[in-house]
Amino acid sequence: MRIRLSAIALTSVFFSLACSVSLEASTGQDALWNLALKNKDTFRFSTLFTAQDVRRHLSSDEGLDKAVRWCKDTAVTKAFIESFRGGYRAERKTLENARDRFRKAGIAASGCITTTTLGKKSVKGWDSICCYTDIPTQERLQSEFEFAASMFDEIMIDDFLFTDCQCQECQKARGSRSWADFRCDLMVDVSRKRILAAAKKVNPKAKIIIKYPQWYDKFHERGYDVVRQTKDFDLIWVGTESRDPDSQRWGRKAQYESYFIMQWLGSIGKGKTGGGWFDPYGTTPATYVEQARQTVLGQAKNALLFCYGSLQQRGGAADVAHLRKEIPALFRLAALVREKPIVGIHAPKPPNSPPKEEPYIFDFVGMLGLPLVPSAEIDPGARAAFFSQHALADLEFGDALEKILIREGRPVLITSHLGYIKGMLPQQLKNLHILKVGNEPRDLYKMTREQLDPIRKALLAPFRIEFSAPSRVALYLYANTLVVIENFNDTPAEVTFAKKGPYIISPVSLTPMDDGVSYQKVAGAGTLRATLPPRSLLALILQTELR
Ligand SMILES: [Zn+2]
Repeated sequence: MRIRLSAIALTSVFFSLACSVSLEASTGQDALWNLALKNKDTFRFSTLFTAQDVRRHLSSDEGLDKAVRWCKDTAVTKAFIESFRGGYRAERKTLENARDRFRKAGIAASGCITTTTLGKKSVKGWDSICCYTDIPTQERLQSEFEFAASMFDEIMIDDFLFTDCQCQECQKARGSRSWADFRCDLMVDVSRKRILAAAKKVNPKAKIIIKYPQWYDKFHERGYDVVRQTKDFDLIWVGTESRDPDSQRWGRKAQYESYFIMQWLGSIGKGKTGGGWFDPYGTTPATYVEQARQTVLGQAKNALLFCYGSLQQRGGAADVAHLRKEIPALFRLAALVREKPIVGIHAPKPPNSPPKEEPYIFDFVGMLGLPLVPSAEIDPGARAAFFSQHALADLEFGDALEKILIREGRPVLITSHLGYIKGMLPQQLKNLHILKVGNEPRDLYKMTREQLDPIRKALLAPFRIEFSAPSRVALYLYANTLVVIENFNDTPAEVTFAKKGPYIISPVSLTPMDDGVSYQKVAGAGTLRATLPPRSLLALILQTELR
């Protein structure tokens, strides 16, 4: 076998993939709408009309017409129409009329509830959060689900279904349990009795979606129990809002988090996993669309654009204008990643595991060009693994580590907080690598290419891949046939990707995400060198050479 690539071909003309989704020249007013209809079984866009949006935007024929037009212009084929939020219940007549109007226009319509300000206030934290030990609050919750279920067969719950209350009633009910255990037990119980049973009694066809927030390292502390609740609910959705990645106000989230949490919850929810959900707050058009890309790369089936009202305002409207330009490419990307298992470095985050000194470390490790395979369980059969302090919550960790590291001799990366493990091993192991984590996992961004390349070389060796790039360039692998590289820097990034073996590497056109990307293939080595402009994305197809 011999690699067929010609000797260094410098080009920025992309190979077009014949089997990708249909993108023929459909122009005019309904171009994106027609594209959305064609692709909705692969991927779809949704939006949410909050209860306040329902009152403000969906109470008149004019408002409804405008909303339908906006959906069609934004490739939105599904609308969630919310009946309750922030103490306000929308009018039945308005909700039903809007539901029917959307359906008539070919837009699917489902319900939504946001469980804020619906009874006794939590004595701690955000003032819209409730105390669910309080029985009248539970009854109010139940009545809102009965109301929504009388109109909709599907109801989403926005990610405020948690509590941080520590009132005397809660303290008494908690007994000797930890706050985390008490809150998880409480929210599981309230969900079963006051939400699921109550809604299904009114409407046996009702399917209820629990949408998990983005703050996965704190779920259990406030009563989100991803194991029991995922089992109980019909579907799960995922918060993928990374917002402004450099702003203190917006949490300085790594963009990779949206991919990580989508895949991590997807590994728990499997067939129950629906879509991702992001918003325009604190974003620029560039960072806004990065949320959409990560949601697609996370293999969501749907992206919810929160929310119609906010997206009509100046910043939101600018974000949507930019998103519309990327929608055709996002459909293509969704078709490319669909049903391809992700490949790479096993990265377990056991459910309810405390992060200790390493909150959300997976998101930052992913920004270093280390392709992670998020998992809720530790897999002793992993070909390469990354372990953080989260792994300590799994009793199988020690045995799994011994198997992967010592018996199988696979490459393992551990954080410096787990560095003490080195001293517990029978001998020095060349396949154990330590990632120095400072006070903040975010400091990992400061690692240089020279520091990162040896780590990537070792961890990617089982996949016969080499990757060189500065930090804040992410790598994603799908089923040994698709590679995605994304540059999150504000400066161009020079990268090298190599796959050993008889492979032909062909870039796929994803305009405008890959505008300005240039590359050269290096003969005889299955190697591609590319320059990615700021915030661009390059997808590569790997084909085995048939000779
Ligand atoms: Zn309470």
